[in-house]
Amino acid sequence: MKKNIVVLATGGTIAGKADTPNETGMYQAAVLTVEELLDAIPRLKELANITGEQIAQIDSANMSQTIWLTLAKRINTLLASPQVDGIVVTHGTDTMEETAYFLNLTVKSAKPVVLVGAMRPATAMSPDGPMNLYNAVLLAQSQEATGKGVLVSLNDTINSSREVTKTNTALQDSFKAPELGYLGYIQSGRPYFYRLSTRKHTVKTEFDVTDLTALPRVDIIYGHVDSDGVLPAAAVAAGAQGLVYAGVGNGGMSQTMRDALLAIADSGIAVVCSTRVSSGVVTLSAVAGYGCGKFIAADTLNPQKARILLCLALTKTHNQAEIQRMFGEY
Ligand code: ASP
Repeated sequence: MKKNIVVLATGGTIAGKADTPNETGMYQAAVLTVEELLDAIPRLKELANITGEQIAQIDSANMSQTIWLTLAKRINTLLASPQVDGIVVTHGTDTMEETAYFLNLTVKSAKPVVLVGAMRPATAMSPDGPMNLYNAVLLAQSQEATGKGVLVSLNDTINSSREVTKTNTALQDSFKAPELGYLGYIQSGRPYFYRLSTRKHTVKTEFDVTDLTALPRVDIIYGHVDSDGVLPAAAVAAGAQGLVYAGVGNGGMSQTMRDALLAIADSGIAVVCSTRVSSGVVTLSAVAGYGCGKFIAADTLNPQKARILLCLALTKTHNQAEIQRMFGEY
């Protein structure tokens, strides 16, 4: 029997239009509606019973916590119904990994949730959107995708939302999990899983968006030669309740940055150390050393994902040890 899948559209390049078929760089994102996206792939109807909802119509650079909360709450309502078997979210690729990880921590269902986008606009000579969307629906209606957390699927691959990142600004094989790898592939109409993320997600998290109307402000500070305490101080003045520091190497920092961040941590603001390096662990031992026991290590989360976990952590606690525990679990 065919499954019931809901496609929640938010815009992005997958819904984008350019003036000519060979133009893949200059185009307007978020033009096609969810109905137009679905109508472009008649074979979708053979896969599943599909309904569409337009949640937003934006370039994903304009994604916001307000839309995240709307999306998470809508998905939770839909998946609580026995009439809905899975969700596909169409999304711009630029911030897709952030929305996917936010949903991975806040969706309260084991049913499949798959984020999908495209690197080429819908008007391109050979757009990647239709096949990507077809595969995303295929994945969302599959038994194999159940209980695996929120997934990201483009270019015939299946990725964990915790580990995936956009690695290339333009190419179609942009979405990868550096070093840790894909969860699997979609081949000839079937998903094949080869591995899983070991971290807690969806029904096993402690985060609950039911009554949340806003997330605490958390800013990212980028480490570089000659970086100093000006930007962290500005973030705190703007109301940041937490900072993520994208450090050099294993979360490293200049002495000036270190002095600034230690003073900020002393004032009760959570400081998480991530890295500007594209893969690897920011280790507890290194962070304990230069943070004098006052900083939190991001583990393998990149800065933009560490920011999401810190935002959600701060909805529960400001206790440093508790937040560090969460970074070890999610
Ligand atoms: N260039 C983006 C994309 O690939 C636009 C966006 O993120 O909305 O979808």
